[in-house]
Amino acid sequence: MSQDPRTALVVFSGGQDSTACLAWALSRYSHVETIGFDYGQRHKVELDCRGRIRTELAHAFPAWASRLGEDHLLDLGLLGQISDTALTESRAIEMQANGLPNTFVPGRNLLFLNFAAALAYRRGASVLVGGMCETDYSGYPDCRDNTLKALQVAISLGLDSPMTIETPLMWLTKAQTWALSETLGGQALNELIIEHTHTCYLGDRSQRHAWGYGCGHCPACELRREGFTQYQRDKGNA
Ligand code: ZN
Repeated sequence: MSQDPRTALVVFSGGQDSTACLAWALSRYSHVETIGFDYGQRHKVELDCRGRIRTELAHAFPAWASRLGEDHLLDLGLLGQISDTALTESRAIEMQANGLPNTFVPGRNLLFLNFAAALAYRRGASVLVGGMCETDYSGYPDCRDNTLKALQVAISLGLDSPMTIETPLMWLTKAQTWALSETLGGQALNELIIEHTHTCYLGDRSQRHAWGYGCGHCPACELRREGFTQYQRDKGNA
């Protein structure tokens, strides 16, 4: 595949989806940087995974190592002032009457992408990459394709500079995301994702399953397990 000369900034949380997006960007763009947000998550396990995943990716894929640039971690602690959710306070995760899980921080992805765009502009990057997805999403309206297309236009106008928002997982199921990472980096990449990425809402890394670490019961673990099981089933049938 011919290389895209642009610099990409990947919104990278340390989870499965954003790691697949990072691999996707590294396979395409000549220079790739990562950005993460610390906003007082109840569990910082994902953030702790970020550095390890970057190191492991560079080690396992030398062609990507030369393209992988700086990591940026932004302190968005102020989000705690405008959210009252299970992610930031000690409260059980449950579905609200509007069908959204109470882990919802209103418009969170809009805020993240605006901060990412400002940083990208400073760093000379003109592509933002995020793991937002309509197929398996938990009802978050700020993850929808149309929302992000509108945001891409608003950001490009507001910066007076073209900024492309790429969402390689937008129309993929969780099973297809596993297949994508296998296409990008083979079994080695999927093993890296299983071992080092974190998804569990409860921050549990004491239990190791075939699909990775987690409590096995929270909505994030259920989604990851079901996706992995389906991916293996699809492979068996192929
Ligand atoms: Zn869990």
